[in-house]
Amino acid sequence: MTPFTYERADSPAGAASAASRVEGAKFIAGGTNLLDLMKLQIETPAHLIDVNNLGLDKIEPTPEGGLRIGASVRNTALAADERVRRDYGLLSRALLAGASGQLRNKATTAGNLLQRTRCPYFYDTNMPCNKREPGSGCSAIGGFTRQLAVIGVSDACIATHPSDMAVAMRALDATVETVADDGSARRIPIADFYRLPGDTPHIETVLQPGELITAVTRPSRPAALRSTARCATAPPTPSRSSPSRPSSSPTVRGASLSAAWRTGRGASRLRRPRCRAGQRPSPPNCWRAPSRRMRTHSR
Ligand SMILES: Cc1cc2nc3c(=O)[nH]c(=O)nc-3n(C[C@H](O)[C@H](O)[C@H](O)COP(=O)(O)OP(=O)(O)OC[C@H]3O[C@@H](n4cnc5c(N)ncnc54)[C@H](O)[C@@H]3O)c2cc1C
Ligand code: SF4
Repeated sequence: MTPFTYERADSPAGAASAASRVEGAKFIAGGTNLLDLMKLQIETPAHLIDVNNLGLDKIEPTPEGGLRIGASVRNTALAADERVRRDYGLLSRALLAGASGQLRNKATTAGNLLQRTRCPYFYDTNMPCNKREPGSGCSAIGGFTRQLAVIGVSDACIATHPSDMAVAMRALDATVETVADDGSARRIPIADFYRLPGDTPHIETVLQPGELITAVTRPSRPAALRSTARCATAPPTPSRSSPSRPSSSPTVRGASLSAAWRTGRGASRLRRPRCRAGQRPSPPNCWRAPSRRMRTHSR
């Protein structure tokens, strides 16, 4: 691992300010993605800013009847929250579909949104990858593409976004709240939060350097409240040409939208939308079209 310095921030503005002060600085929350990437030398931050003690670990009701989820709320706490389970079953289920209990105990809301792709070539530092090393090429194009994207791609990158939770947040039209180093706050609709790869697949979101996520809010949307979806994991197909998946890699499951979404009771109604939207998480169209919303499973 490349040497780095460490500090623990004590306020959101202080964390953002520290990130802009030190070149090559990164925030660290649960560390479940960032530390893996550092061990593999895929990410080499010169300075880590611990954002676990900023008081951003609360889930609060909003005046409009929605919920404001602090950036440091652990995935386990969010999935288990009574209000989330009752009103946003989709979110709770998406979270529980991801990783393991131990990982969800550490993983945070903001870290989950910003985890990096699980494209196997991204993790293989012997192979060209525009996302890891801009301008080096894309090994996946013409290579092993299982679990990678078919829409929302570019000539530079065909990776998918790995987060199960982000897909649910997108379906629920969540808003990402941030604070910048000068203390100014922004509210970014999640539909505008992720960038398509274009020529710069290494730039994945509209966040500015040093900008800190403070919360994710979800409006009250009665039509979507009782909606749930279940991702069924397709087992990986063994292939000689397949590079080995990193040991910590999940199957890309719901996040890649290649999963089958259960739309009613019984396996016979399992549909596979085959919708892949590159590094921008998007729910299948059936979530967006009101006329088809009846196909979602209401509790
Ligand atoms: C074995 C394994 C299996 C997994 N399986 C799944 C799965 O099935 N589904 C799934 O969705 N995920 C899965 N994951 C990924 C896991 O959900 C993420 O690693 C986790 O959510 C990241 O959260 P974290 O708090 O640990 O982030 P960190 O690793 O601490 O940070 C991740 C990124 O977010 C940035 N960051 C953190 N907090 C902030 C903030 N407040 N503002 C701005 N930037 C911030 C960091 O700088 C870093 O770039 C798996 C991970 C592992 C190791
Ligand atoms: S698809 Fe993207 S992440 Fe994967 S090798 Fe190509 S550039 Fe890298």
